Amino acid sequence: MSFPMNTPRGLTRLQLILLTAAWIATVPNAVAVGQFLASPAAGHGLAAAAFAAGGWLFILTVTLAFLLAAGLFFPGRSAKVLCAAALVAAAAVSYFSTFLGTQFDKTMVTNMLQTHVAEAAELANLRLLAWVAVIGVIPAIAAWRVPMVPVSWTRASLSAMAALAAVAGVTVVTVYAQYPRYASAARNRDITFNLVAPTNVLASAIALAAADLNSRTVRAPRGTDARQAYAIARPRLLILVLGETGRAQNHGLNGYLRDTTPSMRAAGGYYFANTESCGTATAISVPCIFSGMSRAEFSILTARGNETLIDVVHRAGARVLWIDNDSGCKEVCAHADYRDLTDSRDARWCPEPGNCHDEILLDGLEPLVRSERRDTLVVLHLKGSHGPAYYKRYPAAFERFSPACQSNDLSSCTLAELRNAYDNTILYTDHVVGETIRIADRMSDQFASAVLYVSDHGESLGEAGLFLHGLPYAVAPAEQTHVPLFAWVSRPFLKLERWDAGCMARQTLVPRSHDNVYATVLGFLEIQSVEYKPALDLFEPCDPKP
Ligand SMILES: [Zn+2]
Repeated sequence: MSFPMNTPRGLTRLQLILLTAAWIATVPNAVAVGQFLASPAAGHGLAAAAFAAGGWLFILTVTLAFLLAAGLFFPGRSAKVLCAAALVAAAAVSYFSTFLGTQFDKTMVTNMLQTHVAEAAELANLRLLAWVAVIGVIPAIAAWRVPMVPVSWTRASLSAMAALAAVAGVTVVTVYAQYPRYASAARNRDITFNLVAPTNVLASAIALAAADLNSRTVRAPRGTDARQAYAIARPRLLILVLGETGRAQNHGLNGYLRDTTPSMRAAGGYYFANTESCGTATAISVPCIFSGMSRAEFSILTARGNETLIDVVHRAGARVLWIDNDSGCKEVCAHADYRDLTDSRDARWCPEPGNCHDEILLDGLEPLVRSERRDTLVVLHLKGSHGPAYYKRYPAAFERFSPACQSNDLSSCTLAELRNAYDNTILYTDHVVGETIRIADRMSDQFASAVLYVSDHGESLGEAGLFLHGLPYAVAPAEQTHVPLFAWVSRPFLKLERWDAGCMARQTLVPRSHDNVYATVLGFLEIQSVEYKPALDLFEPCDPKP
């Protein structure tokens, strides 16, 4: 029997790529899908199935996107080469994840690149070869042999875009519907992209190449003219407390019904109730604050190509000390004396190794600063209110609001328990800022001291079904972008600099943003430079200058 010649038999290019992506997402990545089922966030029965389905869809979307992107270099029938290669690569990579629990990240790919042929040969064994043959080579041969139906370039492109949009759309809806569970599974590292073969290796290789390129970029100098504008009787000391995930809505000073900020209130400083962050994640906000660019101008790539506020302050002859209990300085502190406390095991502050309460930043700070005769900028990078394990951010004595959620699985707590735990973190951060002010005040016998506190971004606590942070700025709710900003100055500072306290209080009525931090730090340290934009300095109108 024969078929009429005009009935196309075989697969279109897109169908072949779709089938390849579906196979890779399902078979070699069974372990990657399995991690969703194994996560405590998955639950049981139908809920677990829906949770894993979202995971599978995510892997399918990522794989399809990679294949379609790579497909741009494999026109027409040569897509077979791409599909066959991807099938074999996925099988080989998945062997290590499936049987050896290997996770492929940048470090692992670096290791692979440095592996000799002999070492690689030692890895080869019968089980590996059998796995690659069954999971990779047989489907690759099938892909190679399948007849292809030609489709016009325009139609192929349109249908490829439509297919990707459809798959991505279903994935987004499925994941969004269960968002809190994925968020907590990801934060607890129950699930990791490093198991998704072979895109894990590709993505890591791309990230590695980008990092390599980045490390070779020489940052353009900033503020080569920076210098101390004038000296006063004592060196200046500014302690910049860089907060984490503190949202303004939950600050007593901002009119919140709970008194979560008694220490800042008692210290009597200047609270800017209406302040917007630059980003909704640390990785954007921290580089942005120190970049000298406004939120409108900021781009991470431009920022990486330029020196930062820290470099300008250093160039002006001041000492810069950066003490970190959070996630590092995001490449902005090359010229700072940098101290990383994130891995501390000091039992006085750290209930578990590497998880330390923020007061560790103040331990030994005073003698460290007192030994200095120059103007000094200290940056204290808090862990603040970083979730989802809010309950780990404060000592037991600060559990003022209870019952507080005692889990990092957000879906296992009520919104009220979540809010209680979060408010306790704000209360503790307020205490840390208060203690910082006490230390700065004590040292005002030696320095003209001041403290500036600002958080990097806010947090969603279930409003509109959203949790945590990191939404694109354009769609981010105010909870993620409205941050606290607070300044305090010592009496000797006011006296020596002759700033007008009444004028300073009036400045808090003006809406502010992260755009103001850069100029304000330069203003506090009286650094003269083209980098200094007086209009952005919070207190410029109150500074008479000599
Ligand atoms: Zn952050």
